[in-house]
Amino acid sequence: MFKSKKPEVNIYIPKSALGVIYDECDQYDLDETGGRLIGNYKKNGNKYTIEVSGIIEPGPKATRTATSFFQDGEYQEKIFRSVEEKHPDVEHLGSWHTHHVNGLDTLSSGDRATYQRIVNHHMHNTDFFYALLVVEKKTGGQQRYTIKHYFLRRKDSAIYEIPDSQVHIIDKPLIWPFSGANNYLPSSIPKAVEVKSNSNQERVKDQEFFAEFYSGFKPLFSKNTNAFYWKGKLNLVDNTFLDVVVIENQDDHGWAYSIAVADQIPSISNILTSYKDRTFKSARLAVFNIERNINQGIYLKKESNV
Ligand SMILES: [Zn+2]
Repeated sequence: MFKSKKPEVNIYIPKSALGVIYDECDQYDLDETGGRLIGNYKKNGNKYTIEVSGIIEPGPKATRTATSFFQDGEYQEKIFRSVEEKHPDVEHLGSWHTHHVNGLDTLSSGDRATYQRIVNHHMHNTDFFYALLVVEKKTGGQQRYTIKHYFLRRKDSAIYEIPDSQVHIIDKPLIWPFSGANNYLPSSIPKAVEVKSNSNQERVKDQEFFAEFYSGFKPLFSKNTNAFYWKGKLNLVDNTFLDVVVIENQDDHGWAYSIAVADQIPSISNILTSYKDRTFKSARLAVFNIERNINQGIYLKKESNV
């Protein structure tokens, strides 16, 4: 690979694009997430001016863990084609993803290898790749997350971190996700959820609690109901298992959690019914309560049958 002059890169990114990114981050406190960055660029020698004008969401078939993230490429390509119809000059600029969930504050070796492969691929339209990385969740302040920007060039093995002084936050509407008058926003795109900080703190505590005591519990997000929920199995005193779902709701008093079981169990149906209208301050409180009540019910039934 030849040694070339260090590129001079300026990034222009709308406030609303950061909003889309942060909203997505808010929904995935525990697993990596991300999306594609689209827009335009100008190149003059080794000077690049990159302007982000849209964020394509990861798509319904994206898969996530705390240390990996795979986008739904087919879905993203479809969205890109539909955006391109209205904005023929739009380009793929790169992608963004999160590391604040795993504490790695830079690109992983896997990220580097993937991006090098993409930028050097003969089908890649541009001679660069722009990667935005979310490295830290902030408490308070306007910017909800700390982000870093990286730039890769074809036939250049270096990866350049772009200093903040060359990242310009601008006021400009996005071409995607589009939410103007002639709305073509697919229903699978979650609306921007304003997540209160106390909710996140509960989620973090719930996560710690479940990891320690109920390792089968998983945090999920329903795009249909636009709600965050936990799903897992209770291991009951009679050695049976019970699937439960804890749903996060917002009411006048803030955040509330309701719990539902997947199966009807006739011997304890009164207990299960009593939970239909109950809400709890946290998911762990809901799980802890229902498990204790069900086990008491099962135990008392056994006693009375003797
Ligand atoms: Zn990564």
